Amino acid sequence: MSKKSLSVLAHIHSPCDDYDPNSMAVEQAREYIKAFLSPVKETEKISLMSSLGRVLAEAIVAPHNVPNHDNSAMDGYAFNAQDLAKEGVTKLKVTGSIFAGNALDGQVQTGACIKIMTGAAIPSGVDTVIPQERVKINRDVIEIAEPIKQGANVRYAGEDLAQGQIVLPIGHMIKPADLGLIASLGIGEISVYRKLRVSFFSTGDELASIGSALKTGQVYDSNRYTIFGMLSRLGVEVQDLGAIPDDPALLEKTLKQAVENSDVVITSGGVSVGEADFMKHLLQKLGQVLFWKIAMKPGRPIAYGKIGNAHYFGLPGNPVAVMVTFYQFVRQALLTLMGQPSPSVLPILNAICVTPIKKLKGRTEFQRGILFLADNGTWQVKTTGNQSSGVLSSMSQGNCFIVLNDDVGNIDAGAIVQVQLFDGVI
Ligand code: AMP
Ligand code: MG
Repeated sequence: MSKKSLSVLAHIHSPCDDYDPNSMAVEQAREYIKAFLSPVKETEKISLMSSLGRVLAEAIVAPHNVPNHDNSAMDGYAFNAQDLAKEGVTKLKVTGSIFAGNALDGQVQTGACIKIMTGAAIPSGVDTVIPQERVKINRDVIEIAEPIKQGANVRYAGEDLAQGQIVLPIGHMIKPADLGLIASLGIGEISVYRKLRVSFFSTGDELASIGSALKTGQVYDSNRYTIFGMLSRLGVEVQDLGAIPDDPALLEKTLKQAVENSDVVITSGGVSVGEADFMKHLLQKLGQVLFWKIAMKPGRPIAYGKIGNAHYFGLPGNPVAVMVTFYQFVRQALLTLMGQPSPSVLPILNAICVTPIKKLKGRTEFQRGILFLADNGTWQVKTTGNQSSGVLSSMSQGNCFIVLNDDVGNIDAGAIVQVQLFDGVI
């Protein structure tokens, strides 16, 4: 891939007019990546019980109404509202009872009522249910002394889902509620996109693997573990290709192996300024990869492109920067590749910041914060302390990013800031 075609690639496909690889705004990089994403197409049929986190390849259409019959929302007495006295107390004879799962043969007569349990089908001849605690009972006669509206406490057929309705669209990711919703339609098998295959490896001469003693200057390879964790939460198929030293031949071999069987390849390290240039040369030789300096902290350098048919993300080596760039760019891209046309963003909300923060304008910062419920009942956030991009404990202690956009400067204690939750989301 020549330099010329790389820049052509950048311009032709860039949705942004002011493409500048050396100063990319966070949103611009996101838009750029989005323009290249081609979701998985292959589908498979799987059982409902194993479909949590999978993405629908076919819409779920209601084969029947849910609920299937008008039914009672309360334990009480079902009667016809026409039988209510215009004034004073109404007396109705209880002529039978009906439980959930049973049907009543025949019809409830005028002037009579039936004892009915929650969920039992409303028999013909009646249209209203009064809860048992709101009637007086005298042997087999109930007395209704208070006003009640026609149709009260009746759940109507199709009020949750109507027959023929699109219940869940193509591209929907199955959540726990959806499992129940699909089950309520009697559907036990669904069509989903196949799992996305993601390979990853770490690069760096300084990396030691767990199990070997650290020599001076070495660090344990932690990035593979955090990447593994974040990928696993997203529900993709992972392939861990290990920690690879900065050796061109080994890196080339590993990259080729990664690409062979994957939709996405993720590496950490080797894309920063001042790093050995192996990785850059190699990526430019094997694919169409662009190198960006993002106006953000941490996570300034990243590489993005295609190697063969695989999407490639070259994340920085610093342990916090790896996680920040994953949350800010890779997560959304993977969800799209998994088949979701417009994946949800991580929740962002406002909170009172109790720590003053020093911040330069012109870049987006993702400081690690701890969001907590203060004694006065408001949600407040404090920083985790040292914000160096090597301090991984900040991600472990924190439960959110304090997102400080380009145009935000220093923050005083007590100011409202945006926080983006990451704990429990991926
Ligand atoms: P690099 O982006 O390769 O220049 O790495 C930046 C910093 O991150 C260096 O201090 C590396 O030692 C550290 N680093 C790179 N890869 C890893 C890794 N897999 N695990 C832990 N630290 C890493
Ligand atoms: Mg390195």
